[in-house]
Amino acid sequence: MVRLLELVLDPAGSQRDIASLIRTDPGLALEVLRLLDPSERKSRFALHLNNALNHLNAERLRDLALKLPIRGRFEPLDAPEGAACSLDSRKHAVATATAAAALARATHYAEPETAYTAGLLASIGSLALWQLDERAMHDVEARAMHLPLAGWLQTERETFNFDHELLALTLADAWNLPYELHDVLAALYRKPDELERMGAEGVDVHLASLVRAGFHAAHDAGFPLHATLGPEPVPSDVAKLLDAVDVPNVLELVRDAVGRAAELARPRARTIEEAFPTIMAAREELQRRLLEREHVLRASQSVFDVLQYSFERLGDGDPLPGVMLKTMERMDFRRISCLELDEREGKLVVRLSQAAPGETRTQEGLWLPCPAERDSLERAARIDREAHDPLHQRVLELCDVHSAVIAPLRDHESGRRMLLVADRGRAGRAPVPGEEHALGSIADQASLLVKFERMERANKQLATQDPLTGAATRRKLMERLEFLASQSERTRLPFALLIMDLDHFKRFNDTMGHQTGDSLLQDLVRILQATVRKGDLVARYGGEEFVVLLPNCTIERALELGDELRRIVQDYGTERLESYRGLQVSISMGAAQWQRGEGATALIGRADAALYEAKHAGRNRVMRAA
Ligand code: GH3
Ligand code: MG
Ligand code: MG
Repeated sequence: MVRLLELVLDPAGSQRDIASLIRTDPGLALEVLRLLDPSERKSRFALHLNNALNHLNAERLRDLALKLPIRGRFEPLDAPEGAACSLDSRKHAVATATAAAALARATHYAEPETAYTAGLLASIGSLALWQLDERAMHDVEARAMHLPLAGWLQTERETFNFDHELLALTLADAWNLPYELHDVLAALYRKPDELERMGAEGVDVHLASLVRAGFHAAHDAGFPLHATLGPEPVPSDVAKLLDAVDVPNVLELVRDAVGRAAELARPRARTIEEAFPTIMAAREELQRRLLEREHVLRASQSVFDVLQYSFERLGDGDPLPGVMLKTMERMDFRRISCLELDEREGKLVVRLSQAAPGETRTQEGLWLPCPAERDSLERAARIDREAHDPLHQRVLELCDVHSAVIAPLRDHESGRRMLLVADRGRAGRAPVPGEEHALGSIADQASLLVKFERMERANKQLATQDPLTGAATRRKLMERLEFLASQSERTRLPFALLIMDLDHFKRFNDTMGHQTGDSLLQDLVRILQATVRKGDLVARYGGEEFVVLLPNCTIERALELGDELRRIVQDYGTERLESYRGLQVSISMGAAQWQRGEGATALIGRADAALYEAKHAGRNRVMRAA
């Protein structure tokens, strides 16, 4: 294990050495299998340890090695006699595997690597027994001295209540190893006729025979399962296989392989003191990874927090600035900017930027020409100066940082292509893997919020703004009136309103057509809005009736303003007399000032009565309410 750590922590260490080490040590190989996802073990792994290792990139291998518990003594494969008693089993494992693979190749078995893996793991039961209770195993060794395998198995059973064959099967089952491996382990010590029966039940007997033959070849090459194992009768299937190959050549290959495995497994450190730096380095590495994990955890927690925050503020206007600020706070960024890709101009423009205290914001409006290839804008990513993507480079240049996390904001409706860019300044830590997914989720949600907010705005407008004239709706007028009344109740400030109605509008419609009638209504509202003060409200009260609400205004001033409006409308009509076929345009009005304790409806009622009077008095005039 220490050797594995040495290899993975050595910056110059080659991945192939690591893989070979795992491959030639059944204990390690099983640990690796155990640490792989069960799904990978079942589907991708099948039987091929080699294949499994191919799927492990350097990063995964390092992770695996760091996760493997550091235990056991130093057990180099070439340790002196008696230094470690599982040593024989290990050498035997490498020898069996090598022989099984060589026999597989010689007999054109389709998957020699599978034979290798199965051969390697065939001694796992014995290895596990040594791990379990070394003292008891010494006892077994003494009692089974020079007995054949059956005697060893019997002695193991007497000592432990089970034997290494059963233990191997139990492990294969507990670790969820592929069924082919179970079968090989179960067939290892069966008689040829039993083997034939298993074949009828679908077991790959050729594979089993390869491993059985490997077992004998290992014995013959000088690497028996136990140094004191007695001579073993050769079953007929094994004899047949061995007959078919150049046995001395296979034995040579086996000795070579054990030698190389010993070389590879030999730890550089031979004492605990020597191994100490490696173990410390492993600890540091572990700590670094834990910290990284913590960052990732924090990032995913941030997604939740930011969402919660923005949901609470739904309907409060553009959600983007709030989301950006909160993301910066929660994910511990120093700065966050929103860039827009202006496709027409081919520019990347800073639209919005926020920064933590002490940090400078990216200047809004700053821009750089944008490269033609823009696909990389479609995905959330961690980017840094080493990256080759020209668009990513531009983003970093624009924000003047070395590394950042980016995530696209999709605003489908407006068609704008935006990008969130979050960084930790020039001195801050680089983003860790996983943070891009967090920012990506936040950006996705923010895109939805922007869409929602736009719909909200449209809805609100519908409720508060008359679509034909752009005047306020009656609902908005009533809300404002109630508000003014309660405010004036406290402040005693006067307010007034004018209610007006177009004179003979029916006739106008009949003569000019409804459409011209509509545009007259629009003109009227334009005139009203152009004339009143900023805080005054022009509302459409009914078909051709309008109300102008005048905060902080007395009845006298309202009458003056009313008369001014009346005159302007009249002038407008005179100007268009010809195009309106001689029809004069005018309005009649009622004016009222709010009285203490009076409700909105009562106030409008009084003004309306005055309007009625104005109509009766001959139209085109303003009357004061009683
Ligand atoms: P009066 O001077 O007494 O107010 O006479 P009038 O003809 O204006 O009175 P009345 O209330 O009888 O007629 C109002 C007309 O306004 C009837 C309706 O067709 C018209 N009208 C109401 N809303 C609209 C609108 O949105 N567009 C158009 N073109 N006409 C409208
Ligand atoms: Mg009317
Ligand atoms: Mg009218």
